[in-house]
Formats: sequence, structure tokens, C-alpha cells
Amino acid sequence: MDRAREACEELLPGLAPALADVPLPELESPGGPGLDAFRKSGGPGLLVPAAYGGAGAGALRVARVTRAIGALSPSLGVATAMHNFSVASLVALVASADASGLEWMLIEGIARDRLLVASAFAEGRAGAGTLDAAVSARAAEGGYLVNGSKKPCSLSRSMNLITASVSLPGADGGRELGVALVPADSPGITRRPFWNAPFLAGAESDEVVLEDVLVPEELMLRPQVELGTGLDTLQTVGFVWFELLVSSVYTGAVARLAESALDAGRGSATDRAAVVTSVEAAIALTENAARIVDEGQVGNDELATVLTARYAVQELLVTAADRAAELLGGLAFATSVDTGHLLAVSRALAFHPPSRGAMADSLLEHHAGAPLRVV
Ligand SMILES: Cc1cc2nc3c(=O)[nH]c(=O)nc-3n(C[C@H](O)[C@H](O)[C@H](O)COP(=O)(O)OP(=O)(O)OC[C@H]3O[C@@H](n4cnc5c(N)ncnc54)[C@H](O)[C@@H]3O)c2cc1C
Repeated sequence: MDRAREACEELLPGLAPALADVPLPELESPGGPGLDAFRKSGGPGLLVPAAYGGAGAGALRVARVTRAIGALSPSLGVATAMHNFSVASLVALVASADASGLEWMLIEGIARDRLLVASAFAEGRAGAGTLDAAVSARAAEGGYLVNGSKKPCSLSRSMNLITASVSLPGADGGRELGVALVPADSPGITRRPFWNAPFLAGAESDEVVLEDVLVPEELMLRPQVELGTGLDTLQTVGFVWFELLVSSVYTGAVARLAESALDAGRGSATDRAAVVTSVEAAIALTENAARIVDEGQVGNDELATVLTARYAVQELLVTAADRAAELLGGLAFATSVDTGHLLAVSRALAFHPPSRGAMADSLLEHHAGAPLRVV
């Protein structure tokens, strides 16, 4: 965690000091000071290459910063993970042959004007695949008219831009997946309350409704899907970043609980060492995923490695949080909301896509030699 805090202070100076003394419940509520502090520290440009005015941080340092943010405020961790995921995908696009020329202006604007980018893929339909968009786009003069609803959508109140999956009319009369880049103040965009849980409420994961929102042709991306995997190269890179970011957020949140338990010094040395082992193992798995990204070769096999790591982290965090809370004891649980809050948060990595159940067959098939399909 010291390495995480060092990376955070180096890349986002002032963020941790600004939030260090704010009580957790305040940071975890909508309208808390986290997102403002993130903006002020230059957070939106963390992944934007230096050539476009950002910090150009590599994956290992981003994983560490994300872990530090997850420990400061899990809600801020989730919200900024969604932003960084969108930016990582745009940065990958700038470097690819599919780039239209507009993307570099966008990422430059994100860093310069400290813009926040939401990632709107979920549509509140249980069991729907991550890439299974029902929000529809129909051809209109100059582009597409987009209609539908996205929920939960983190950053729904603070976002400046939205990246949203949509169902597009395909060349053969069918439908294909598109990703729309939409300014958040476009006519036709409204928000509705959706997130009722008291946990992670500071991530602003409410509903975003799109009614006849005009998206110009050049801001509608069409991923080219690779046979057998359901993913194109950019989506593969995006997924790897996403799993890395969310695993890091929740590792940081549980590390905060673990540090409290170690500081309290209660229980046997064996119990305390077990907490250290689980959290350090989760850190090692996420940092290994980050090193894979930094090595530059991200394809289908690497996605499988990173997803497997994420599911392993998911289990380690539950074990670590349970043990840490038990060591802290009933008085700590009863006299502050922090233990209960972090215990609940330690479960939530399981709620990010793709779910372990949905991917089980695909992971087994990949283990037997097939490309990894993401459902
Ligand atoms: C804090 C937080 C913030 C979020 N923010 C965003 C955001 O900003 N943008 C966004 O797009 N989304 C966001 N999400 C939503 C997330 O992406 C998921 O879409 C959502 O949580 C899925 O919920 P679900 O109930 O449909 O789960 P499902 O994925 O449907 O899973 C429910 C259960 O069914 C099982 N299951 C599902 N499919 C299958 C299958 N094919 N085979 C076998 N079993 C299966 C799963 O294993 C699981 O046990 C956020 C979620 C959280 C927790």
C-alpha cells in the first residue's frame, strides 16, 4: 500500500491529502468531495499520453494509483475506474488503424479540460451480456438518433462525456454493436435515480436516459469483431484494462480494512499474517496483470490470464475482509460504519462484468484450447 500511496501522490498530487481527513461515509455519499479532488489533481488525464497533455501513466502505476484511490474511497475508485476504462479504450483507438482522427482531439480535451468520461454499457437487464446492447441507434441526417436507457451508469451526475454501447443497423439488414461518444450535455440526455444501496453510492451509478440524442457519424465507432471470440482487438484491450482497474479498486478497499486490523494488533499472529497473505496475493495478481499490459502484447490469451486473476482476486478479497473484520471485533463493527461498509464493498467485485458464472464454460473451453469468448 505504501507503493500505491507513493504512486498516487506522484501522479495525482494533492488528491490523497485532500481526502485523508474526510470521514468515509461522506466520501461514499453522492456529492462528496472525491470527484472534485480527482479533477483538481489532474486525474482525468492519468492515462492520456504525454504527447496529448496527460500523465501518460503505464498500467503498473495506474494499478497502484487505483488501489490507493480504492482505499481512500471505494466509490471514487469505482467512478474513476469507469473513466479510466473509457480513456484507455480511446487511447488504444488513437493508436489503431480504425482511428478517425477525432479521437486524439478528444483525449487531448479530456486531459486539458479535466473532463470525466462515463462508460455506459449496462442496461439494467439481469443476465444480459456486457456487449448485448438494446439501446438503439437509427440513421438520421448527419449521423444517428440514439434512444434507450443505461443503468447503472457511474459518474451519471458529474460526467462530461459518455461512451455508450448501442445497437446499430448493420450492412446486411441485421443489427451490430456500436460505441457512441456523446457529450453529456447533448439535448435528450436526462438522469433518473437508480442506485438505492447505501454502499458505493458516491460513484453516482444512476440511470441515464437517452431520447433522440443525435450522435454524428464520426462519433459512432463500429468495433470489428474477431471470429470465435465476440471481441475485436480494441475491446480485448478495453476488457483487460477494465478487469485490471476494478480488481485494483476493490483490492485497495479491502487493504484499508486489513490495515486497520493490523494496526489494532488484535488476534493471533497467525490470523494477522493470513490477512497480510490474502491482500498481498491480490495485489500481486493485479500487478501481474498490469505488467502484462505494460509488456504491450494484449490478445485473447492475455485476456484469459487477466480474467482468471480477477476471479481469484474476487475470492481472496472476501476471505481477507472476513478475517480483518473478525480481528477488528464487534465493538469496531458496532461503533463505526466503516467496517460494515468495507465488508459490503469487499463483495462487489463479483458484480462487475463478466460474472464468473457467465464465463465458466468459456474459461473451460479456453483452457482446452479454444479462443476465449466473452459473454
Ligand atoms: C458499483 C457498480 C458500478 C457500476 N457501474 C457501471 C457503469 O458505470 N457502467 C456500466 O455499464 N455498468 C456498471 N455496472 C453494472 C455492471 O456492469 C453489471 O451490468 C451489472 O452489475 C450486472 O448485474 P446483473 O444482476 O445483471 O448480473 P448478471 O451478470 O446477470 O449476473 C447475475 C447472476 O447470474 C449469473 N449469470 C449471468 N449470465 C449467466 C450465464 N450466461 N450463464 C450462467 N450464469 C450466468 C451470474 O454468474 C450471476 O451469478 C456497475 C456495477 C456496480 C456493482
